[in-house]
Amino acid sequence: MKQKSFVMLKPDAVLRRLTGKILTRFEERGLQILAAKMMIIPRAQAEEHYAEHKEKPFFGDLVEYITSGPVLAMVIEGDECITLIRKMVGATNPQEADLGTIRGDFAMETGRNIVHASDSPASAEREIALFFQDDEICQYQLPDRELVYEEP
Ligand code: GDP
Ligand code: MG
Repeated sequence: MKQKSFVMLKPDAVLRRLTGKILTRFEERGLQILAAKMMIIPRAQAEEHYAEHKEKPFFGDLVEYITSGPVLAMVIEGDECITLIRKMVGATNPQEADLGTIRGDFAMETGRNIVHASDSPASAEREIALFFQDDEICQYQLPDRELVYEEP
């Protein structure tokens, strides 16, 4: 089943000039980028995005980190892509992330783990709505879909 996920390359990914490399991984896997925008997240929006962590001791550092520079916010689509992208991203702590995952290949610490991805369909819906208007999300068919998926 087709799903949309909210994926964000965090300021360290952008400032380390890793955006192209990371985007290539999603594209080569067969996923579609439906929306992408570079932005510096306003503090209130960052706090809302990470509201589930409001009571955690790292919340202040997290908001500082995510608002410290430009992010690349995206909507990515693909069959069952929410779980798939979480696997591609790897464990929250890059020291525990498998090699071959984005965090496992490019990051060293939890507080500099370079990428965010929605963890469930409910989170994806909430996060996409927090960052994108409906008319910023571009729907299109993959011309080579039958080379990537069995089902049309
Ligand atoms: P994720 O879904 O894998 O991104 O992980 P969580 O939802 O648990 O945490 C959200 C983000 O908060 C993580 O990606 C980290 O950037 C940050 N974070 C989580 N735990 C810690 C921590 O113990 N210390 C710091 N500095 N940041 C943390
Ligand atoms: Mg999370």
